Amino acid sequence: MTTGTGTGSGAGTGWGTGPDTDVLVVGGGPVGLAAAIEARLAGLDVVLVEPRPGPVDKACGEGLMPGSVRALDRLGVHPEGHPLLGVRYLDPTRRVTHLFRGTAGRGVRRTALHGALAARAAELGVHRHEARVTDLEQTDGAVTAAGVRARWLLGCDGLHSTVRRLAGLEAPARGPRRYGIRRHFRLAPWADVVEVHWGPRAEAYVTPVGDGLVGVALLGPPRTDFATTLAGFPDLAARLAGAEPDGPVRGAGPLLQRTWARTRGRVRLVGDASGYVDALTGEGMRVGFAQAAAAVATLDDPPERYERAWAASTRDYRYLTSGLVTAATSPARRGIVPLATRAPAVFGAVVERLAR
Ligand SMILES: Cc1cc2nc3c(=O)[nH]c(=O)nc-3n(C[C@H](O)[C@H](O)[C@H](O)COP(=O)(O)OP(=O)(O)OC[C@H]3O[C@@H](n4cnc5c(N)ncnc54)[C@H](O)[C@@H]3O)c2cc1C
Repeated sequence: MTTGTGTGSGAGTGWGTGPDTDVLVVGGGPVGLAAAIEARLAGLDVVLVEPRPGPVDKACGEGLMPGSVRALDRLGVHPEGHPLLGVRYLDPTRRVTHLFRGTAGRGVRRTALHGALAARAAELGVHRHEARVTDLEQTDGAVTAAGVRARWLLGCDGLHSTVRRLAGLEAPARGPRRYGIRRHFRLAPWADVVEVHWGPRAEAYVTPVGDGLVGVALLGPPRTDFATTLAGFPDLAARLAGAEPDGPVRGAGPLLQRTWARTRGRVRLVGDASGYVDALTGEGMRVGFAQAAAAVATLDDPPERYERAWAASTRDYRYLTSGLVTAATSPARRGIVPLATRAPAVFGAVVERLAR
C-alpha cells in the first residue's frame, strides 16, 4: 500500500468506531482517478483501491472528445497527446468529416492519461491501496470493502464491475454482443481527426495519439480477430503495412452492460461500472468524468439526485449510441456512411451532441 499526504485516514486501519475515510473509490482507471480528484477538491478524505500498479493500460480508442479535455482541464490534469480536430466516417468509396465547432479533442495514450491523473491524485493527497475488492458490507453509517470503512463507496471498477454485482445492481444486457480490440503502430499520423472506417461487419477506429504513434481499435461481433479484421479494410491495411506494431493487442467486451440502478445505500456506480453501451461513438470517458463530478456533488443528497444527474449526463450517449449500434448491427449498416455523406449537417449535429 502506498499513501498520499491527505488528512489522516489509512486503508484497513480500523481506527476507533468511525469510518476510516470519507470516500472509498474502487478502481483506479480514468474515471476512478477523476472521481478521487473531484472528492479531494471537495475537501473529502479519499482512499482509492486498485489492484494493478500503474500506469494502467486498457483496450481503448484513446480519443478524448472536447468535453473530456475540458473536464480534465477543470481537474488540473493536462496529458500530452495529439490534437483531434473532428471525426471522419469512411467506407471504400465515400468520406465525410465534421470538424468540432469549439475546442479540439485530444488523442492520448492510456498510459499517459493514467500517469497524468495519478500524479494529480497523488498531489492532492489521495491515499492509494493496492488491493482487489471481492466483498462489500454496508451498515447504516458505513460501507466496507478491501478492509477500508468509508462513509461512501464509488464503484469505478469498469465494464465487468465487481461492486455492481456485489451491490445487486447488475441487470441482464439484451442486445448485440460486440467486442473491441486495439493495437498501436509506429508511424506519423496522417490526419488530425478520429477516422471511423466502416467495413461489412466491423469498424476500424483510428486515433492519432502522438507524433509517431497511431492507435487502431476494431469494434465488431464475437471472435473479431485483429489481423483478419484489419485485412478487411484494404486502404487502412495498406497505410499500416510496414509500420512497426507498438505493444500488444488488447481486447475488451462484451461492451453492452446494464444496471437496474446506480445507487444502493452508500454505494454509487460511476463510469463503465454504471452501465455501458458501445465504444462506437468514443464517449466513455467524457460521460464517466461527468458522472464522477455528479456523484461527488450529490453524496450527501438523497440517492435520486445522483440517479437524475446520471440519467442527464448519459442521455445523449445512451440514445444516440444505442441507435447507431442498432443500425450498425442490422441491414441498415451499409447505409450509414452514404447517409452521413448525403446529410453532413445531420452527421455534424450528432457528433457535436456527443462530443461536447
Ligand atoms: C475498444 C474500445 C475503444 C474505446 N474508445 C474510446 C475513446 O476513444 N474515447 C473514450 O472516451 N472512451 C473510449 N472507450 C471507453 C473507455 O475506454 C471507457 O469508458 C473508460 O476506460 C472507462 O473508465 P473506467 O475508469 O470507468 O473503467 P476502466 O478504465 O475499465 O478502469 C477500471 C479500473 O478498475 C480496476 N478494477 C477492476 N476490478 C476491480 C476490483 N474488483 N477491485 C478494485 N479495482 C478493480 C481495474 O484494474 C481498472 O483499473 C473505448 C472502449 C473500448 C473497449
